[in-house]
Amino acid sequence: MADHPFLQILGTGHSEAMEHWNTNAMIVSSGRRLLIDCGFTIKYALRDRGLGLPDIDAIFITHVHGDHVFGLERVGYESRFRYGKRVQLILHESLQEELWDQTLKGSMGRASEGENTLADFFDVVLLRDDRFDWQGVHCKLFRTRHTPNKISYGLHINEQVIFTSDTTPIPEQIATLPAHTIFHDVTLRDEHPVHAAVPALLSAYTPEMRKKMYLMSYEDYWRDWEPQIQREFAGFAKQGQIVTIENL
Ligand SMILES: [Zn+2]
Repeated sequence: MADHPFLQILGTGHSEAMEHWNTNAMIVSSGRRLLIDCGFTIKYALRDRGLGLPDIDAIFITHVHGDHVFGLERVGYESRFRYGKRVQLILHESLQEELWDQTLKGSMGRASEGENTLADFFDVVLLRDDRFDWQGVHCKLFRTRHTPNKISYGLHINEQVIFTSDTTPIPEQIATLPAHTIFHDVTLRDEHPVHAAVPALLSAYTPEMRKKMYLMSYEDYWRDWEPQIQREFAGFAKQGQIVTIENL
């Protein structure tokens, strides 16, 4: 088992949640660690797994919301000024301006050395198409439907595992991606413009698809919903949950 890469869920909480960390995950392959998103709770989420920022080798960003990117400020500063390293930052080129110019630059654009760019803090890998390989793990990006007019991606990992990050239901995408396990956004409100409400999930996905589907990004009152979620889906994703990724 130790030879197989795996995906581990680091956080399962809604952006407002206090009980769970931000919905972020991690791929581990050959002893190296790639974060999928890096929200403002990332240091706590890593601590719970016995890890810290120096243990992280690379970060992939799905979209530019605080619970998915605000931890980059910590990673950037602490890697550069405390640990003397640059973590790889894997980013689709369509997100670059939104991430740096509109989000991180206000905090990280000036240091005692003068003007900075994203590359002063990270080893930036800009993706121009929809795929990348990391430590032998094949990652395919697919577009999701989250905030209108805002670009957001999910990841299809080694043709086996889907991680949607934040999205409303996207059955037309999910149906084309083979997977034994799907980690999908949920909100426990009755309806929602940018997250996947349970009634919307029930009407969008077949029972066969839902049986493979662990729901993440949930509110603190999740216990009220657990019986129904276990009946209609694989269940709620849990912090620390691990899914093995078979080598292709
Ligand atoms: Zn979001």
